[in-house]
Amino acid sequence: MAVAAGKRAAALIAATLFTSTTAFHIAKNQLDAGLRSAAANDSSAFSSDIPTPILEGGSTKAIRLRKQLQEIWNDPTNTSPIILTGPKGSGKSELAEEIVYQLPSWQTKIVHRLTLDDGIDFLDTILGTASHPGLFDDLSVQANTTLVLKGFQSQHVDSKDSLDRRGELIDVLDTMVTKGQFYSTYENSTKAFLPRIVGCTQRPPQYFTERCGKHLNATFIKVPSFEQRKSDIQAIAAAKIKLLERKFGLTNIELSKEGRQRLLDHRWEVDGDSELDSELYNGLQLLASEKKWNPFATDSLEPRHLLVNAYDETIRKRLLYDIPFLRNVIMSPWVFGNTLTYIVTPVFILVNLILFLGPQTREENAALTFFWAGWWPGIMLVFPFLGRIWCTVCPFMAVGNIAQEIATNMGVQLKKWPSWAKESGPAFAFGLFYAILMWEELWDLPQNGALSACLLILITSGAVVNSVIYEKRLWCRYMCPIGAMNKMFATLSMTEVRTFKSNCEGCTTAECINGGSPTVAHDNYALKGCTMDLKNNQLRDMGDCVMCMSCVANCQRESPEFNLRPLGQDYGLPWLLPKSIQSSENMALSQVETNFWLGGIVCILQGSVLLHYLPKILTDFGMDPTIATVGPALDTAFATHTMLAFAILGFPGGLSFIADTAAVPLESSVKVLKRQLTRTPAENAAIKTLYESMLQQNVDVSAAIKEWDQDGDGTVSDWEVKEAFKLLDIPEYEYGLLFNLLGKEEGRTVSSLFDDIQELYFDVQEAQRGSVSLAATFKNQMSENDFETKLTFVEIFNRLDKDGNGFLSKDEFLAMSKEGYFKKPLSEEELNDLFYQADVLGIGRLNLFEFMSILRKNVKIGIQEIGYGYLPLAWGSLTAYWLGLGMQELGLTLVRVPSTFNVWISQGFRDSIPQYVFDTSTIYAVQVSVMLVSYIASVALTQKLCDDNRIGPVRFGTHAVTQSIGAAITLYLMLSPEAIVSAYR
Ligand code: SF4
Ligand code: SF4
Ligand code: SF4
Repeated sequence: MAVAAGKRAAALIAATLFTSTTAFHIAKNQLDAGLRSAAANDSSAFSSDIPTPILEGGSTKAIRLRKQLQEIWNDPTNTSPIILTGPKGSGKSELAEEIVYQLPSWQTKIVHRLTLDDGIDFLDTILGTASHPGLFDDLSVQANTTLVLKGFQSQHVDSKDSLDRRGELIDVLDTMVTKGQFYSTYENSTKAFLPRIVGCTQRPPQYFTERCGKHLNATFIKVPSFEQRKSDIQAIAAAKIKLLERKFGLTNIELSKEGRQRLLDHRWEVDGDSELDSELYNGLQLLASEKKWNPFATDSLEPRHLLVNAYDETIRKRLLYDIPFLRNVIMSPWVFGNTLTYIVTPVFILVNLILFLGPQTREENAALTFFWAGWWPGIMLVFPFLGRIWCTVCPFMAVGNIAQEIATNMGVQLKKWPSWAKESGPAFAFGLFYAILMWEELWDLPQNGALSACLLILITSGAVVNSVIYEKRLWCRYMCPIGAMNKMFATLSMTEVRTFKSNCEGCTTAECINGGSPTVAHDNYALKGCTMDLKNNQLRDMGDCVMCMSCVANCQRESPEFNLRPLGQDYGLPWLLPKSIQSSENMALSQVETNFWLGGIVCILQGSVLLHYLPKILTDFGMDPTIATVGPALDTAFATHTMLAFAILGFPGGLSFIADTAAVPLESSVKVLKRQLTRTPAENAAIKTLYESMLQQNVDVSAAIKEWDQDGDGTVSDWEVKEAFKLLDIPEYEYGLLFNLLGKEEGRTVSSLFDDIQELYFDVQEAQRGSVSLAATFKNQMSENDFETKLTFVEIFNRLDKDGNGFLSKDEFLAMSKEGYFKKPLSEEELNDLFYQADVLGIGRLNLFEFMSILRKNVKIGIQEIGYGYLPLAWGSLTAYWLGLGMQELGLTLVRVPSTFNVWISQGFRDSIPQYVFDTSTIYAVQVSVMLVSYIASVALTQKLCDDNRIGPVRFGTHAVTQSIGAAITLYLMLSPEAIVSAYR
């Protein structure tokens, strides 16, 4: 099916001109425009063998399509409508253009294109009025005209009037198609409609035949979806590539075998034709930029060029494509396997020996200086840039790795990971970290080489023991305290390793996780696959990924990506800036999987910073500051030191926990109080009427949603709210009150509106019970179940409604716990109880509003969902503290080398060794800057997490105040001149 280039170019240009002669234009979506405009704007892009992509292929479906079209073209006298029916993205528009192009020229002297969207804006111009003839009046008598009808799937309309007009236009178009008639308002009569109609619709042919009976004289062409034309995809893609390649200065580009496979594996379910256009457009663009870098790049589209557009490309930079050299680096066995074995492990052993055998104080021991003044600030600074990469070069695990290899060589059968690890690992890590921080304080580890080495060996033994019992890195994934800290801070990282699920469709080897790919045959480390046992294409955040790049090296399709992204992207808050100053299109719901104990680690880390200033704290409280330096002994001074250390470590966590526990009942009480004190009690009555009429209606969920979303675009406009009020028989005088209460929100979804209405209803009910009882709310809060999801209640309802009848049966409801919606699974008995409480209408099934009510009464949002908002502040406090130490002491490492090895040097030589010590004001300036930035980021993140979890201003405000107190105390201590000496003692 090849068409001469010049002719096609002329046709496209002609089509454009014809279109511009009318008030309407072709409403093409953005993706489609990529391909079409590339072709239309560059007539030189055509070559004599450009086929019509959508007609390509050797499947029976493709052959039938071509045959049907040929029959139309073979019958030049036929003027009956041609209706292309098929799912979205099947290429109907492209076919319509091809049909028009080859219709007899007498029929296409004039071509008009009309889309529904444009149509409703110009209805009078199209249909005419009693005083003016319309476009159809003019067209109806022109037998030399073709009318192409497109875009009838668009949904959003701005008013009820527009909805009615859309209905009116559809009726007119239906009559034209089914009866070949047009009712002229201007002439007040029905007339024959002579133009040839080429229409594209998702409606089945029955829709038209039902309206017209068997007499309908139209040609229907069923256009199969891309999914049904899998075997044609290669040919379609090849034709599209031909159409596009010159746009990017490329010639003779082909699809590689693997690239073709990736297209074949993909599920083209959403908008196939446009999606393929987009993939090829972006793929060729990538290839063109790659060719600029790499003169040896092939002329073929490889898997890495395709199906990579799941990310919001505006905020992610794909480093492996932008800097192709990086991939070569990653494929080297020195990244990271050989490095671990041949460099990290020997250095680690040497450092431990120095710590054990060398002088015991930092002033004399370079290794001790480097560990405390170098490693700590270093790792804190790495988190924002490369997340958890420390865990890839970590000596503890390097030794664990070697131990695991020895064990397997000796025939030890490594076990699968036990289920308790995920449940209890974080609590274990929290407990161990608490103990380590206590140990560090009470035994003054920063000034004790041997004990510092013991700390390293302790963590190493955890890694070794687990590595010789369990496969991969169980210790690192769930139990290591340092790993737990790294996991938390890595979620803030501005780089990520990520795979888009679509890129993995059809992959049966999963070498990314299992390893063993021929691409890494020379690299023992990468051969193991993902040692953290992660399915990279299912990662929600960067907490567990240690950026070892094994998946990148293993995947033969080159699916995993290494991206640059804004800090905070895992939380959907780019750059951790307040959401009010961010573009909403870059924001998303937080993806981070939270855990109570890991949140606790953030808190004790914050406490560990305070603990370094214990002498200052004691002085300020009028106590003896020397208690802070009391070493281990069986006396009261040490007991006091121990208790103080325990309390200070727990202080930030305790403070935020108490604040949160108080804020929850306070928040609900404030809302109830607000409803009690409302100056217009009629508002309360209105919300009650509204909610109860929604509940009592007892309709299925789709009917309930349809009432509020009449144009079916998924969002609720003001006019739709008003229409819903009418349908629910809400008295008109209550409209204004309800609008006031519900507020205006651009693009609000039906489900979030339902949530808002229901929340208000509950507050009103509480208010009418007459009491604001903090104690009762607190008791409720304690008995509530933690929720594990950020879905709205309507979304959960839809997912549970497996038979899709719009109601939840008992079985569907009971599945809730199994499907993981509660943090702590509920027993069947508990769920049964909930079900009977929920079934207020008593008919053995729940409608949407009954379901929402019971959830509202029984679930709470755990503190950790908000507590992760403290993360930037904890990072800032630790960084400010350790940077201070680093700026004071790291520059003295070299000068401490001779004493480390007990080598005598002259004073003159000592003086010639470089020493860098920053002055106090520079240290303060750095500390203040880090603290301020992290404080702002913390408040912004907390606000975002509160919004994501539908938590109100009281609870957010409480945490913001707690964070302000924490930041102020930390800064006060850091900036106290007498504290700096003791803190780094
Ligand atoms: S989790 Fe712990 S042991 Fe494992 S690599 Fe990270 S720091 Fe090392
Ligand atoms: S990332 Fe893994 S699952 Fe995806 S294609 Fe590569 S090997 Fe297969
Ligand atoms: S997901 Fe990839 S980069 Fe991340 S830990 Fe696993 S193998 Fe390494």
